[in-house]
Formats: sequence, structure tokens, C-alpha cells
Amino acid sequence: MEIRDRYAPSPTGLQHIGGVRTALFNYLFARSRGGKFILRLEDTDRTRSDAAFVQNLYDTFAWLGIPWDEGPDVGGPYAPYVQSERCGLYQKYVQELVDAGEAYYCFCSPERLERIREEREAARSGETGYDRRCRNIPPEEGAERVGAGESHTIRLKIPLEGTARGGPQITRFRDQLLGDIEWKNEDINPDPVLLKSDGFPTYHLANVVDDHLMGISHVLRAQEWLPSTPLHVILYRSFGWSPPEFCHLPMVMGQDGKKLSKRHGATSVDEFRRQGYLPEALLNYVALLGCSYEEGKDLYTLGELAERFAPEKLNKAPAIFDYKKLEWYNGQYIRMKGDAELAELALPYATEAGLFGGKGKGPGPEERRVFIAAMPLIKERISFLHEIPEKLDYLFADPPVPAPEEFIPKKSDLSHTITLLRLGRELPGELALLDDEGAEALVKATAEREGVKLGDLLMPLRVAITGKRVSPPLFPSIRLLGAARCLARVDRALQGMGGV
Ligand code: GLU
Repeated sequence: MEIRDRYAPSPTGLQHIGGVRTALFNYLFARSRGGKFILRLEDTDRTRSDAAFVQNLYDTFAWLGIPWDEGPDVGGPYAPYVQSERCGLYQKYVQELVDAGEAYYCFCSPERLERIREEREAARSGETGYDRRCRNIPPEEGAERVGAGESHTIRLKIPLEGTARGGPQITRFRDQLLGDIEWKNEDINPDPVLLKSDGFPTYHLANVVDDHLMGISHVLRAQEWLPSTPLHVILYRSFGWSPPEFCHLPMVMGQDGKKLSKRHGATSVDEFRRQGYLPEALLNYVALLGCSYEEGKDLYTLGELAERFAPEKLNKAPAIFDYKKLEWYNGQYIRMKGDAELAELALPYATEAGLFGGKGKGPGPEERRVFIAAMPLIKERISFLHEIPEKLDYLFADPPVPAPEEFIPKKSDLSHTITLLRLGRELPGELALLDDEGAEALVKATAEREGVKLGDLLMPLRVAITGKRVSPPLFPSIRLLGAARCLARVDRALQGMGGV
């Protein structure tokens, strides 16, 4: 059997972690089995669907590097892949159901439906959904009223008649993760609408017709869709089609055990992207939400994930979204980048932060060279791209001179600090020409000769040159800045401390 699965988002919001996880698992499953991964836009909710969200979907998956084999933008044998362009098909198929007595015309007005809802609420009856009033209209009468132009919807006739043995009707199906599932038909949404009065299908109709017509063999989707599945199974049977395999993915929760939402932090991919997450980190982490691959291995490329993914490896328990863990992944992937690539990725953040002499101003050739050469200085110390400009600002502009007390090493005082900095002033000329090892040896020798602690010698020098007590490594910073700029900064600092 050819494996075909799909991601079928409704473009009614930004792409978020849950959607990406569904898409990724479908992608991995198709790849792991030599199948096809399809994108289908379920845009039948005309009031909530928006072209901007479609664009966001394309941008998100292009950034993540997840392609589909068939879809609205790349085409394929089952085009169109946009439901609003397939309305004629749904109308044709739903008519077959009406003709076969599996669905019926409903003439109840929205006002009537609202009234029964209110009455039930007032009576606290606990009943929900449609009261099936039109279910027993004789088909000829229904057809006549439709012919006369009466506004109507089409509803699915959920089978309710008792079984041969007198028990209630039950709908059963197998979920690849959750096992055998059964629902009493009387507990299923009572005769849901399939076709709306404006001729548009509901999610249930369009989803089932398309999965069937597009040859979808496996439906991997979020667990929140599980209550719709019995209804879909009935719909498949009403059409005389066999349903695909279902696999409902474990929920994604925040640390507090509640469904992941904005309250927990970023959820849209756009937000993660703005915050400086790398697509590799996000994908790697999302792939682990509810699936276990290999003991003791944390980092996976997309190819490695595709080799290992299998529905049997999914966990039934909800997945907990751990922002700290994601941050760890991001740091790992930042560390794996080459200097030029990392610099390229960080450049927009640096430009935006005004690192190169003004907000929005890009680097000149020399600044670009320094920026790339500075990547090894911060690579090990950051988790996010946006941390880079602030860490490296002293390489591109003279930092403000810190207050005198900022220069003072622990357990020291201002006058000794001035002495230390004067000593330190002798160093940059040579340090700028030495590698780290040579520089270390020189500073050590100087500290010993002068009878001062190594750390005490370096602290005021570091503050003078970088403007910070905690900075990226000093020796490569001195090499990047050059001796002259370093000396000028030391002199400014000495002046500020009254030491000149
Ligand atoms: N359009 C539905 C959604 O937005 C698709 C659910 C499904 O995969 O069947 O998630």
C-alpha cells in the first residue's frame, strides 16, 4: 500500500507548535515509509480564513525546511489542494448521501436552533446539538422544498436504530496509538451539518471526502480531533468507503499540565523565530514532543528522525513543552554552526540592535570581517542569536567609561586598581600579536614579576577595554580591536579614575 499522509491546517491563525508537530510527524512518517506527504488547506470557514495566514504557513515551513510532495503551491495529481476551490465536489458527494438516505435536508432556521439551545440551557437539560426534527421529513417532501428554493442545510443521519441483538449502535475503530476505540452513536454529535446553507461544506464533510479522494492512507492528527473521528468513520461507511488508519497524537501541555497556550510563553513559530531560535533546534525539540527515539541521543537531523520515526514510538501520555530544554537545543545548534554561517544568521539582530553605528544600519566590509571573527568568542556562551549584539558591542564602538568602582577587583581598592591598570597598560601592544597561549604566558609572567594576582591584573584591563566586568574572552578581543584602540580605552579609563 502506498503511504500517503497529510497536514490539513485551517488558515485561521499563525502556525504554532502544535501544528508544526502534526506536520512534522506526518512528514517523518511519510519519509520513513517511502510515502508522500501532502499539504491541504482546509479553508472552508470563510469568515476566519485569511490569506495572510496562508502566507505565514508557507513562510514557516520554508524556514523550517519541511517540504511537501503535493500541495497548493507545488501542485500534484489531486489538485486543487485548497478546499474552497473544491466546493462542487463536496456538493456532488453529499447529494449521493442524500439520495442513498444517509443524509437529509434540514430546514431549521438558525433562530430555531438558537431557541432550542436557550430552552435547554434554561431547563438545564444537559442535551446538546440538534434535536433531529427534520430527520423524519419524507425524502420527496424534502426534495420538493429544496426545489422550491427553501433555505436548507444537509445533515448526516447518525445510525441510531438498535442492533439486531437490541443493543445500542456503537461505532468502533482502531487508533494506531490508543488502540481500539468505541463510541455509542447516541453520544456522537447528533446529526451534524455536512453542507451549510451557503453551499459550503463543514470540516467533517470536506475532510472525509478529500482524504478519500486524495488517497490518504494515514491520518496523524492532534488528539483534540478524536471526538470527531467516530463521526468520520460513520461518514466513510455511509459513502461505502473504507476509512484510513488513524493515529491521534498526544497532547502538548505546558509545565503546569494545562494545554500549551500563550500563557506559557511563545507558541507561534513567528515568535520563536523572532526570539532567535534556529529552525534545526525547534524541529529537533518538537520531534521529541510525544515520541521517543533512541536512549541517550538528543540531537537528530531531519534525516535521522525520518529513519527512526514510527507510530509505535509515540507516547500515550501528554508531552510537556519545556522552554528550558528548547533553549538548550538552541545553544547546541548555535555551537554547531560555522562562524560565517552563524554571523550571517545573527546579522539581522545585530543590524536591528544598531551594532554597526545606528539602528538598521548594516556592517561595512571591515565590520563584517570583525563580526565573523568574533563568533568563536560568544558561540559557547549564548542560547539565542539576539544575545549576540549586546555581547559584542565593545568591538564596534567605544563603550561608555564605567564608574571607577566597576574596575576594582574583589578585596581591592581604587588606588591599587589604578596601579594595576597602569601595569595592564603595558600589555596590549604585545598581546595583540600573541595567540591565546602566548598571551596567557605573558600575563602570568607579568603578574608574578609584579607580585599581583593574575585575576586582579586582568580585571581592570578587561573593564577598560570591553566596558564590562564579565565579557567574552579578553585576549582575542584585544587582537580584534588592535593595540591602539585598546590603549586609548585604557587611557580614558585611567583619566576617569583620576589616575592620569
Ligand atoms: N483542518 C483541521 C485543522 O485545522 C484538520 C484536522 C485533521 O487533521 O483532520 O487542524
